[in-house]
Amino acid sequence: MMPILYFAGIAAILFFALRFSCGNRVMGHAASGSHNSLPITDLGWALSLFLSITYVVCVAFDLLFPRYVMYETWAGLLPGFVWLTPTGFAIGLVESFLYGWYVALVFGGLYNALIARRRAGMTRLARPSLRFLGAAGTVTGSRYLVEAGSRRILVDCGLFQGFKTLRDRSRKPFPARPAAIDTVLLTHAHLDHSGYLPALIRAGFAGRVHCTEATAELCGLILPDSGHLQEEEARYAARKGFSKHRNPIPLYTLKDAEKALERFDAVEFRRRIDLGDGIAATFIPAGHLLGAAQIRLEIGGSTVHFSGDLGHDPDPPMRPPAPFEGADVVVCESTYGNRRHPDIDPEAELAPVLKRTFARGGTVLIPSFAVGRAQGLMYHVARLMARGEIPRVPVYLNSPMAIDATAAKARLRRGEPTRPAWEHSGIGGGGA
Ligand SMILES: [Zn+2]
Repeated sequence: MMPILYFAGIAAILFFALRFSCGNRVMGHAASGSHNSLPITDLGWALSLFLSITYVVCVAFDLLFPRYVMYETWAGLLPGFVWLTPTGFAIGLVESFLYGWYVALVFGGLYNALIARRRAGMTRLARPSLRFLGAAGTVTGSRYLVEAGSRRILVDCGLFQGFKTLRDRSRKPFPARPAAIDTVLLTHAHLDHSGYLPALIRAGFAGRVHCTEATAELCGLILPDSGHLQEEEARYAARKGFSKHRNPIPLYTLKDAEKALERFDAVEFRRRIDLGDGIAATFIPAGHLLGAAQIRLEIGGSTVHFSGDLGHDPDPPMRPPAPFEGADVVVCESTYGNRRHPDIDPEAELAPVLKRTFARGGTVLIPSFAVGRAQGLMYHVARLMARGEIPRVPVYLNSPMAIDATAAKARLRRGEPTRPAWEHSGIGGGGA
């Protein structure tokens, strides 16, 4: 009886120790996601049956040919073994059976646990982590690094914008090794969320960039324009001699930006995409800007929700953001801090100003961001004209990028296929 308890006890301790440290992977289940693991249950049954049958064959052999005394071989293997008594036979049979499971668990379980550990890099990345690499203490330069299992996922890859001290932060080496990042997910196309991407690729990032189709389309306008402006800025600094470098180099060039667009993969809203290692992402409408998304990341059993920049309700012509559906962790934009959006009707504000100016033969000049705000303004002006509240006057959109963005918006609205972003070059200034 002792040997049976001995085998069963050791196997059980080992099994629970491995199960506790390495979970399901020990048994080599398909759910473990490892294709090289051994199926322990099958292995255990096969070895146990093989050893028990061999044992029975040996007993029969000894009974038929007593001269060969095979039991001496078994006696060496099975502790406390007694041969030809009914109890001794039964103990030997059970021991042989347990032996199979024992071997399967000791070698197979250990093997599975080891390869699973190596594969998941469990020693270093056991717990998912979230690092804020920008948009902390300031509202630009959105970049969040999620590390989970063996994956490193960067949510947004924005430029720091604003005062020079802030802009200079874009020049500092990226706080994580770009080559070690597997995937970039973009919430939307604004530069403070996408504008560092060409520099990240230049620094060694070799993975793909997932975003919605409209975001890819708008990045096709915004990133090359940004590369062009970076080049202009470097040339200007060289000419005026105000750079501390003798030959100032741009953060990235128009060419870098065009190369970056080749990495884009368009994803649909609300379609769950698998990023490997039990991580999945879903893009959820955020209002704010054409194609803008909130990103819901599922990591193992928990959810991290990135709000991106959120629109409000109402904010025509954009739809309001999709309602929040709950998450374990929320990373929320806070650009407007504790201020409330004023509850005003932009058309009621615009109409009197436009009417008054047109009545005295004047021209209204409206400075505006080229992507998003310019289209919103034109929408309101067009509605005021359609309702006859202001006279029908010519409207000039003095920015090639704003014109391209408007055309892209109209095209996407009609459901027409968009041009691949990288074929698109909307440069030519007017980026405000
Ligand atoms: Zn934005």
